[in-house]
Amino acid sequence: MQPGAWTQRGSEHAEAGLPLEEARRRILAELAPVSGSERVPLATSLGRVLAEDVHAAVSVPPHDNAAMDGYAVRSADLPAEGAAELHLAGRVLAGERWESELSPGSCLRIMTGAPLPPGADAVVVQERAEAVDAAHVRLPGGVAPGENVRGAGDDLAAGAVALGAGCRLRPQEVGVIGSVGRAEVTVHRRPLVVFLATGDELCSPGEPLAPGQIYDSNRPLVVAALRRLGVDVQDRGVVGDDPATLEAILHEVGGYADAVITTGGVSVGEADHVKAALDAVGDVALWRIALRPGRPLAFGWVGQAAFFGLPGNPVSAAVSLYKLVQPGLRRLMGERGDLTPMRIPAWTAEPLRKRPGRAEFQRGILEHGPDGVARVTSTGSQSSGVLTSLVHANCLIYLEPDRGHVAAGETVYVQPLEGVQL
Ligand code: AMP
Ligand code: MG
Repeated sequence: MQPGAWTQRGSEHAEAGLPLEEARRRILAELAPVSGSERVPLATSLGRVLAEDVHAAVSVPPHDNAAMDGYAVRSADLPAEGAAELHLAGRVLAGERWESELSPGSCLRIMTGAPLPPGADAVVVQERAEAVDAAHVRLPGGVAPGENVRGAGDDLAAGAVALGAGCRLRPQEVGVIGSVGRAEVTVHRRPLVVFLATGDELCSPGEPLAPGQIYDSNRPLVVAALRRLGVDVQDRGVVGDDPATLEAILHEVGGYADAVITTGGVSVGEADHVKAALDAVGDVALWRIALRPGRPLAFGWVGQAAFFGLPGNPVSAAVSLYKLVQPGLRRLMGERGDLTPMRIPAWTAEPLRKRPGRAEFQRGILEHGPDGVARVTSTGSQSSGVLTSLVHANCLIYLEPDRGHVAAGETVYVQPLEGVQL
C-alpha cells in the first residue's frame, strides 16, 4: 500500500468534494475477496457467496416429461383437423417410468412430471380428451410435436454452469443448486468486520442517560446492517474522543479484522480524533465526498484491515454505509459484478429543496400515483440527525449533484429500500 495513496490533497476534487461514484470506484479498486473458503450444507448457504462455479451434473429436467395431466401421443397419429380415436396403452405417473415404445395408434395416460414414454412426442391435455371405453380415448387433432412437453435440459443442460463463482445465494439460487443435486457448496469465508462508535457523549441503550449524553443509535443500526449483509460482526462498543485510546484499539483490531468501521469523529471539529489516530496506526485518507447526507468519510487501511470511518450523524452514517461501505464489503465477501443498486424513475408529488453541488439522497415515500405511475413524496425533515426519516421512508430519492430545487411533477430517480424478495 502506498502511504497517502488516497489523499485528496492537490486533487481537482478537494473543494467540491469527491464525486460519490469516484469514491466508490476507488474503494472497490482497493478491495479483493478475503482468502479462504468453506464447504457448507445447502440448508445453511443462504446469503453466502459462491467460491466455485456450480455445474449441472445432470440435465434439468433429466428427461422429457409431461407439462400437464393428459395423454402422451405420437403427434403424427392425430389428424391436422378433426379428431381421432387412440388405443389407451396404460398409465404413467410422476416418479414412474414407462419403458416400452408407444406403438402407433396408441396413447398413454400421463400425469404432470411423468417421463414421456419412448416414441411419444406430445401431450394432449385431459380436458380435451373424451373417453370412449376403458381402452380407447378420442383426442382432437392439430397437435404439434413438443406440445405440453418439458424437454430434458430445458432449464439446465448437463455440464452447464448453473451458477458462477461470486454469486450471492438468495433462496432461488439455493433452489437451483438443489436442482442439480448438490447438497453442499463451497462459499467464501465470511469477512470479520469490527465496529466501534466514537464519541464522549454516547450512552449505550439500557444505561441511564447522564446530562449532556445521547443514546448511541449508530451501533445498533450498523451492527444490524452488517448482520443482515452476512459478515461476521464484532461489536467493540463505544470509544471516547481520546486519541491514545483510539490509537490503541485501532492498532489492535487492525491485527485481526478484515474490515473496521467507526462512526463519528471524522469531521474537523476539536473532538474529531479519528483521522489523527489513523495517521499514527494506519494509512487512511479523509475524504470530503460530494454527498448529502454524509460529507466526510475516512477510507484506507489499518494493519490488514480495510478501514471505513463514517460520519457521526445517524442518517449520514446510514447513507454512507449503504452507498460506500456496503459495496466494499460485498466485494470482500466475494461478490462479483456491478454492485450499484438500480435507480427507477418516479414523479414528485411535491417540490423538493436542494442546493446544487452534492449528490443528495432524500428520504422518500414511493407509492402508486393515481395515474398508475410511481409517485414519490418526501418524509419531511431531511436533517441528518432525524433517524426516524429512514423509518418512514421506503425509498431514497437520488438527486444529481448539479440539480437545484425540484418542482412538483418533475421526474426524479429513486432507490427502493426493500425489493421484492422471495
Ligand atoms: P461527529 O461526527 O462525531 O461530529 O458527530 C456528529 C453528530 O452525530 C453529533 O451530534 C453526535 O452527537 C452524533 N453522533 C455521533 N455518534 C453517534 C451515535 N453513535 N449515535 C447517535 N448519534 C451520534
Ligand atoms: Mg463526535
